Amino acid sequence: MQEPTGVWKYVRGLERFSLCDWPGVPCCVIFLGSCNLLCPTCHNHELAWDMEQVPLLPRWALSAYLDDRKKWLDGVTVTGGEPTHVPHVAELLWEIKQRGLRVKLDTNGMRPDMVRDLKADGLVDVFAVDVKGPFAKYPQLTGNAVDAESARANVEAIFRMAEADPESFYFRTTRVPALTDKDMDEVRGLLPRGFELKVQEFVPPRRKHAVSDHEERRAIGNVVN
Ligand code: SF4
Repeated sequence: MQEPTGVWKYVRGLERFSLCDWPGVPCCVIFLGSCNLLCPTCHNHELAWDMEQVPLLPRWALSAYLDDRKKWLDGVTVTGGEPTHVPHVAELLWEIKQRGLRVKLDTNGMRPDMVRDLKADGLVDVFAVDVKGPFAKYPQLTGNAVDAESARANVEAIFRMAEADPESFYFRTTRVPALTDKDMDEVRGLLPRGFELKVQEFVPPRRKHAVSDHEERRAIGNVVN
């Protein structure tokens, strides 16, 4: 069999039907491997950092599923990992749009250039953007993958896009143990006018060391390296 190339090397999972991933939109969920961050609290670390451990979903199988179910779905959520970090992700999104389905893309917000391009090309209808916490806590929250200044620049670039097109964005924060009530208020204060922060409960990852960090309420910091 021919080896997959481009985005098709990264397609690592499919949830066939979901009523909760995209509020109000019955959808399926496609999971793409790889990520540009190293969040110590990552709920999907195999997919994000070691996707070869997760079986590949062949292109033919995904295409067959979408063809078969497109009448019963209103949309597709594309998540990760980090979809904007995946080479040629537009090719996958185009395949979905060809079937008349809407697309929600989950992103950590660190690639505003990709968000801008995908939006301009009409390949994504809604971006669900994670705001990890106050910018000063991004190094701690992302395993030192991004500094506070870069986080601010990236997230604020997306805020500007959202101000211009509020229907295409929503923002959410996972309340990980390192975030205090004050931090959550600070994040709410960052959002553009008219946006309400969606708060997600933290699901402890399965890695034993991170679970114990959570249980002991220690600062989670960089437990990756
Ligand atoms: S951005 Fe998301 S997928 Fe990537 S490491 Fe952080 S929690 Fe995991």
